Amino acid sequence: MNVIYRRLLGVEAKTASVAVWHELGVASVATRIDAAALKFRNNILSLDPRDFLVRRVYDGLMNESKGRGSSRNGALFLEDLALEANWPGPLKKPAAKKFVNEFVASRRVSELTDGFKRMTTLRNMSDWVEKERFGLPEYLLRTCPSSLREGRRLKTKFRLGCHDLRSSSSRMHLVRNAQCPCCKSRESETIQHTLFECSAFTKERSTFLPQGL
Ligand SMILES: [Zn+2]
Repeated sequence: MNVIYRRLLGVEAKTASVAVWHELGVASVATRIDAAALKFRNNILSLDPRDFLVRRVYDGLMNESKGRGSSRNGALFLEDLALEANWPGPLKKPAAKKFVNEFVASRRVSELTDGFKRMTTLRNMSDWVEKERFGLPEYLLRTCPSSLREGRRLKTKFRLGCHDLRSSSSRMHLVRNAQCPCCKSRESETIQHTLFECSAFTKERSTFLPQGL
């Protein structure tokens, strides 16, 4: 699935998954599995044990795991998950749906925040994207004429911190250092340097920047 997501955005395989999920406004596979498991548990607990065998089996598994302490089973896994999510007890369908959505939302924010801390490629991303955003960013919602597609791809790569400039490729050890190869400044070839500072692109800047303002 992540391969498809990356194709949709036109980014490389090395782009951090957490960045890809955020840009497309989707949750990680692990989070979606946990959300489905929480709904499944809620469905079972909503059944009357006198009428439904599956509920009696579930209760049996829970007691068994408590009794043996260390033995693990599916019921115990679900109970741990519910505890972690602070699930308040059997909920009616609309309430369960609302709770699961909130669970997914908080997981998504914490996955993104952890990603910012863990991965150097995502440090810039934390300056550019809104952490609380759900769904697609505004620029991806607009239809893009094919002549501008390459530009959009580049913008996405910049936003996600995985691109061909040396500040990114040196982190992946594709080049020896991050120094800008286009000018003599010895500055690191960052997005900021290339777009706004590098003397090699003064002419392009004077043409395009006034148009963009
Ligand atoms: Zn330069």
